[in-house]
Amino acid sequence: MRVGWIGLGAMGWPMAKNLKEAGHEVLVHNRTEAKARAHAEAYGTRAVPLEAVAEAEAIFSCLPTSEEVAAVVEALLPHLREGTLWIDCTSGEPEKSRAIAERLSGRGVAFLDAPVSGGTAGAEAGTLAVMVGGDPAAFERARPLLEAVGRRVVHVGPVGAGHAVKAVNNTLLAANLWAAAEGLLALVKEGVPAGLALEVLNASSGRSFATEELIPNRVLDRSFPLTFKLGLLAKDVRIGARVVEGAGVPSPLFHLVRELYQLAARELGEEADHVEAVKVVEGWAGEAIR
Ligand code: NDP
Repeated sequence: MRVGWIGLGAMGWPMAKNLKEAGHEVLVHNRTEAKARAHAEAYGTRAVPLEAVAEAEAIFSCLPTSEEVAAVVEALLPHLREGTLWIDCTSGEPEKSRAIAERLSGRGVAFLDAPVSGGTAGAEAGTLAVMVGGDPAAFERARPLLEAVGRRVVHVGPVGAGHAVKAVNNTLLAANLWAAAEGLLALVKEGVPAGLALEVLNASSGRSFATEELIPNRVLDRSFPLTFKLGLLAKDVRIGARVVEGAGVPSPLFHLVRELYQLAARELGEEADHVEAVKVVEGWAGEAIR
């Protein structure tokens, strides 16, 4: 299939590569053009100007927020052909996606929100979880493409449902990370080394992705690799709070998590890695997780 890809960031770069390696012709476009040219050189994709992406049968977007997606959709709208499939892998907003889907359906283009989970390592390995919202027939058309980038591809409901699931997932990640930091800092202060505490927690019911993966591999060794910007997680948590509020579910915890991550992003900067949020808790505690 001829596939277009817009956005070659930390996630888009390896995902577009995997589509090419699955045998598709891939037209890549990126705001910073040099990255698209480097991708083409490295993997045999084709770097194109934005309008040329409209030649593809299926177009992927993987941008920071739904704002940028709406902007590229508007720019491409006059060039799009009826029957094209638009697959948005951005962690976006359900409401905005419904509006984007509406705009595209006016041109006969089907829209799926298909955000992903699994980080840059999952994107590289093609093992992402993909949660998809949209028309079931469009999902079936997209499935072979999505299976080239993910291992678990699940249709979760109408347009916006994928983004809602993703926002809830990332709010849980953020809550678990912050709670683990508070708890571990208390234990360190009580004289329990964090490594030993984690050994027990990870064999117990308090374990999470934060205690099993993030803290052992990124905090204890103080490496804090930059794989997922704190500003993007703060955005996801903002969407998560809106999703639960919009559903009429009383949500004090989601709102607290939103406040904490806004604060962390202000304090550390949007470009810090998301795991660095624990540094705020460490600063307050006057201790490090070690
Ligand atoms: P990056 O910041 O690494 O990449 C963003 C991409 O969007 C870049 O290619 C950038 O172009 C482009 N871009 C930024 N602003 C604009 C704009 N105004 N107009 C056009 N293009 C723009 O983000 P990630 O790849 O990490 O994340 C992409 C999406 O995936 C986000 O929604 C994020 O929340 C989500 N996500 C991220 C994960 C991760 O671990 N990193 C995991 C799962 C989901 P340029 O090269 O010019 O900067």
